[in-house]
Amino acid sequence: MKSFLFPLLLLINFPLYAAKNPEVDIVITKSIENIWTLTYQMDRPANRLGFVRNPDNSRIERWKPVSSDFEIVFVEGKEYLNRKDGSLFEHVELTLTPTYKHLSKDYAPFSPYSDGGVLIHTGRLFSCINKCADDANDWQISMNIPQDEHLIVNGKVYTKSASWVDSDDGMNVYVGRQKPIETDSVIAVIDSGLPEKIQSSLNADIPKLMVYFQERLGKLSGVKPTLYASYAKVDDRSSQGGTLPNQIFMHWNLNDLNKKIKDAKFINQTTWFFAHEVAHLYQRSKVGALNGESNQSWLHEGNADWLAALALLDLYPNTEAYVTEKIDRFKDHCVKGLTGLTLIEAANKGQFGLYYTCGLLIHQAIDHAVQKKSNGRKNIYFLWNEFRQRVEQGDEKGPETFLALVEQYASKELVVRIKVLVETKLTNPEDTLSQLIVDK
Ligand SMILES: [Zn+2]
Repeated sequence: MKSFLFPLLLLINFPLYAAKNPEVDIVITKSIENIWTLTYQMDRPANRLGFVRNPDNSRIERWKPVSSDFEIVFVEGKEYLNRKDGSLFEHVELTLTPTYKHLSKDYAPFSPYSDGGVLIHTGRLFSCINKCADDANDWQISMNIPQDEHLIVNGKVYTKSASWVDSDDGMNVYVGRQKPIETDSVIAVIDSGLPEKIQSSLNADIPKLMVYFQERLGKLSGVKPTLYASYAKVDDRSSQGGTLPNQIFMHWNLNDLNKKIKDAKFINQTTWFFAHEVAHLYQRSKVGALNGESNQSWLHEGNADWLAALALLDLYPNTEAYVTEKIDRFKDHCVKGLTGLTLIEAANKGQFGLYYTCGLLIHQAIDHAVQKKSNGRKNIYFLWNEFRQRVEQGDEKGPETFLALVEQYASKELVVRIKVLVETKLTNPEDTLSQLIVDK
């Protein structure tokens, strides 16, 4: 697992790594008045800054240049920061909007806690002169915060300020007053404004699920993961979870959570949501996440959802009816979704949900086929562990390596059927899906 390094380790470890992005240093300052200022300092004059992550054009609304000489523009699907007159610059300051914003296929830039604390996703800030090359990685980040608050960076608490070299997808950094609680399995920062029922579920179910997946997918390498659970009581209906190396986070952005928790279905859904995110934590490898391109997300999202189903059935047997009904719903969703577009197009057509629904069905079929061929000695966990090992040994991340193993441990025929389902425009998706699970 690629780790991020806190300052002390940095001195020892850093020379072993590639040099940091020498072009752009990032400084974030939070004032007592909750003003978040982002500063980019370049090592040479630039005519624009581009970003690594471009999920949409919402920086234009949410990032305000301190000087009106600057603007953020959206060109061919990417945002850029430049001077309005096109002249060169080496330094620029912006103020950020520290509220939750759902970004499709990306992490929320901010996840607020109900007591005023917040998580900030650093990957959102990664920037390069002109545009970021595919191999641009390693950013020098510094953060300054008010006296009476603290930062949590990679499981460690800092006051006043911290700086580190960040890379890959970045990380979530906590800024606020809540003290982390270290348990056997995680370091937890759980919003005390969350309903008691959710808090106790987080405290009990997350460790339980971690043990469950650890037994099947192996121990996590690196430091103890940090669990962040935040709750913004606002007029919205979204909740989002995610994982980054050594981090798992969940955010609820709604105002009727107290009412919702009285509904058994919502509780099951929440447990599924936890199981899905914990599964992601254990999908990772020493060389990072194993997924391929975003349009092949059936691989990790479908796998995490199938593992969530298995975990619920094993650990919470009374969820069986819920799980069965959910899988039926997934079938309907997948069939309807693939009437009119191919699965690999879904990412770019706002149909990301299909990677969960169709993806679960693909992994269910694979699991059954692998078990059948091995007379129950091997299963989806075995396959994922093999997949991880292959990638750690140098094979390509993504579906090609995974499907080669499906061919080896299930059948070539199944791989062909999966590829048809993923890559072609189907005339009868229902038929194609039922053929997938014919070996059941
Ligand atoms: Zn997921």
